[in-house]
Amino acid sequence: MASTVSHHGHLIDGHFVAGDEFSENRNPSNTDDLIGLYARGQQKDVDAAIAAAAEAFTKWSSTRPAERSAALQRISVGITAREAELADMLAREEGKTLAEATGEVKRAAATFSYYAGEILHAQGAVYQSLATPASIQTVHRPVGVVGIITPWNFPIAIPAWKAAPALAYGNTVVLKPAELTPGTSWLLAEIIHQSGLPNGVFNFVMGSGRLIGTRLTESPLVKAITFTGSSSVGKSVANSAVEHGLKKVQLEMGGKNPLIVMDDADINTAVAAAADGAFGSTGQRCTASSRLVVHDTIHDRFVDALVARMQSIIVGDARASDTTMGPVVSESELQQDLDYIALGQREGGNLAFGGTTLEAETSGYYLQPTLLTDTDNSWRLNQEEIFGPVASVIRVHDYEEAIHVANDVDYGLSAGIITTSLARAHDFAARSRAGILSVNRSTAGTDLHVPFGGNRASSYGSREQGTAARSFFTTTASIYTNPGEV
Ligand code: NAD
Repeated sequence: MASTVSHHGHLIDGHFVAGDEFSENRNPSNTDDLIGLYARGQQKDVDAAIAAAAEAFTKWSSTRPAERSAALQRISVGITAREAELADMLAREEGKTLAEATGEVKRAAATFSYYAGEILHAQGAVYQSLATPASIQTVHRPVGVVGIITPWNFPIAIPAWKAAPALAYGNTVVLKPAELTPGTSWLLAEIIHQSGLPNGVFNFVMGSGRLIGTRLTESPLVKAITFTGSSSVGKSVANSAVEHGLKKVQLEMGGKNPLIVMDDADINTAVAAAADGAFGSTGQRCTASSRLVVHDTIHDRFVDALVARMQSIIVGDARASDTTMGPVVSESELQQDLDYIALGQREGGNLAFGGTTLEAETSGYYLQPTLLTDTDNSWRLNQEEIFGPVASVIRVHDYEEAIHVANDVDYGLSAGIITTSLARAHDFAARSRAGILSVNRSTAGTDLHVPFGGNRASSYGSREQGTAARSFFTTTASIYTNPGEV
């Protein structure tokens, strides 16, 4: 019988091209479900995409903002028109629930729409010279070819929040999606292609990070690299990008985010924030609340209530209507989660809930939401990013200890506090070393028009999203004009 498995090629210079080699894309909720075969790019593919983007840059960078705005709006409309198909693919290949996947698709559409509007705003400023008659004007110019490297956990939202501003400000793009989740990103590439952008403005090459990603960082034709992924890979991406032509670099990386629960916290708010932050999207979010820093006097009540909440989480097929937590994305990620759970117990943690895999009708990577209590912040469990549905509780005895523990980690992406004290909320916001601060809410979930990013091992370079994106995707020129003699 002829195979019905579909093959998906790269988008290079306005054409989808078949690859020479393909990788399987399998459903983590049902490993018997082969979603499709996706091209595994070679150096010639990425080189052709970079050359096409470089060729297209001159024209695209001189188009009027209204033209770019209209193109982005068409992409937004295209995403919305295919929302159900995109959400189904996202849930099927990544393991998010359909509700979570639909939310991510909506955000991608809104992001393109946002930058369609943002590019219509006045760009630049006028200054008066301090000591000469010159007038001074600043303009923001596109950087050139931008290489975009994305992770598997947000396969449409992250490509959208990098590609939309890149295109809006007049850059051309080569996007490399993660190997584990090429399907949703491929559909986005198809929608962008169908929106009628000139050939070469947006290119899409799948394949390994080591080959395709590295080539993007090394090519002299690429002028900027925006990367989201792990801190270890991010560091090598930055080193290579700087070594090869001092490219602009923007890195968004891992997190080990604390949620402080103070003695005066509203218990329902605390449990809702912790459950969402730790187990939403199966805990596979850079902003996940993996460390729950809990005041001694509320500790037992909080743990009991959180465990009760965890008992109501329904783990299952990401596309089943009653599922509230989908599977882990892959076998190796599942093994890593299990290894960290075992390590946490060896380090002295108490397994308060979960810790084991679950059987389902289909063979998938199902893991119980897991909580370890009586843990110490210095342990590897609490210092290294796990990136799964695993949270630990660290007991503290006063507010000062809570702040110290929250900050005592290499990462600095997101941090939260649950408190009814306005004074503590303000103090926390002033003293937390994270880039995203939350009071009485989950550490995960951010608005698309607000700067996004963290500090230390979590982020490098300028902030993403909202108006902040302009500083990465443009370069500023200051123009001095002397009026001369009348
Ligand atoms: P990863 O670092 O393994 O891979 C990210 C991307 O880099 C992939 O496309 C991969 O193919 C590519 N890559 C791998 N090696 C490369 C190399 N040598 N040169 C160039 N590119 C290379 O990360 P992942 O497992 O896909 O994603 C999970 C990580 O992403 C977690 O650490 C998570 O915290 C982080 N993340 C951060 C944010 C954020 O905004 N801060 C958001 C989502 C995910």
